[in-house]
Amino acid sequence: MDALSNSLAAADMAHTLHPNTNLRAHEENGPLVIARGEGIRVWDDRGKEYIEGLAGLWSVGAGFSQKRLAEAAYAQMLKLPYYHTFTSKANEPSIRLAETLAEITPEPLTRAFFTSSGSEANDTIVKMVWYRNNALGRPAKKTFLARNKAYHGITVASGSLTGLPVNHRDFDLPAIPVRHLTCPHFYRFGAAGEDEAAFTRRLLAELEAVIAEEGADTIAAFIGEPLMAAGGVMPPPAGYWEGVERICRANDILLVADEVICGFGRLGTPFGCQKYGFTPDIMTLSKQITSSYMPLAAVMISDHVYGPIADNSARVGVFGHGFTASGHPVATAVALENLAIMREEDWTGNAARLEAPFQAGLRAFADHPLVGEARGDGLIGALELVADKATKRPFETPGAMGRLASAIGHDEGLIFRAIGDQLALCPPMIVTDDDVAEIMTRMGRTLERLTDAAK
Ligand code: PLP
Repeated sequence: MDALSNSLAAADMAHTLHPNTNLRAHEENGPLVIARGEGIRVWDDRGKEYIEGLAGLWSVGAGFSQKRLAEAAYAQMLKLPYYHTFTSKANEPSIRLAETLAEITPEPLTRAFFTSSGSEANDTIVKMVWYRNNALGRPAKKTFLARNKAYHGITVASGSLTGLPVNHRDFDLPAIPVRHLTCPHFYRFGAAGEDEAAFTRRLLAELEAVIAEEGADTIAAFIGEPLMAAGGVMPPPAGYWEGVERICRANDILLVADEVICGFGRLGTPFGCQKYGFTPDIMTLSKQITSSYMPLAAVMISDHVYGPIADNSARVGVFGHGFTASGHPVATAVALENLAIMREEDWTGNAARLEAPFQAGLRAFADHPLVGEARGDGLIGALELVADKATKRPFETPGAMGRLASAIGHDEGLIFRAIGDQLALCPPMIVTDDDVAEIMTRMGRTLERLTDAAK
């Protein structure tokens, strides 16, 4: 095993360019090779066990050994392994999935466009919205509003919507017209003396001011994750989304909910927008749609969004956008089975029921000397590590403490995501009370050792 492991690691260090990785450090330190998974756990190639506290990349709702998904893929591969959906071609799983998504997403959403990744889905949304506004004879209405610290992907358009410097710097992004507004995270961006309600009012006033400054006739859409996840797990302040929706409606600005992480029950409601009380015109879905067993994403749109796009395609002769894998029969068959399991096992109900112990478990660390804030909603949360609790002062070298915590966490058998110095948890949707307790025990041991290591 060791020889295999060594040769695997050496081959990886020599031949793979890893996403989201310090590449020179990787050449020195090599990979953590994950060899197998079962339930909420994975094992590395040396046989060490870990709880996957981030469900892979916030995505493996079903856990790592759901045989029904493998069987659905196998059966579909034998029947029809591939077909496309260009030029009115169709296949049964993708039709059934579009129908199912129209049924389970909030009311105005009736139609699905499929891609393989969340980034492609958000790029598609940018292009659809532009196409639609050109069709409506308002070619100036093109700018997107997004938020600092948002994550919407990394392709040229979706990466432009993302509001994280590391995804922009030296990539020449943003490359599309976008304005990033203040991140709605009260702990970090609330002003001295401001309460949460005043913070919400300030954010909404900023939105109105930006619309007034740019001109509503130049702003096409507002895109946001209901709860900002990959930027650091930041639930919105009370009243924020109702206000954003009201202002968007008043200015004929489309509202896009990027539900790539919040969708399919993560927050204890079917979709994140329902947790926070708003209704989008467009929704991005991915990750938990197949529990990441297959790459798949969907853009859901309302009839109001669809109408002008369809009219224009008739005028031009074709809606000139689509991917080889749009509506892939194997990916959509796996999604259908995954959503059937989600309903049978009531993942949304499980998240709603476990929200209290999960969030209480996290908040029990709020008194720890290194923890500035413990936060989250549903089955997603984070601990923000700080150098000084009283002043919320971050560490001098951002990310170093997070990396150390992550290494200790691995040693303790808990995988979480260190986003800078924020430790994010987002376990598979199949977790039980006992699993939540074990995650918190391992996190507690990690923090204890971190305190010693930081001295
Ligand atoms: N949107 C959100 C909210 C995400 O969290 C992500 C990925 O984490 C994406 C979009 C991009 O998805 P992908 O990595 O599949 O391109």
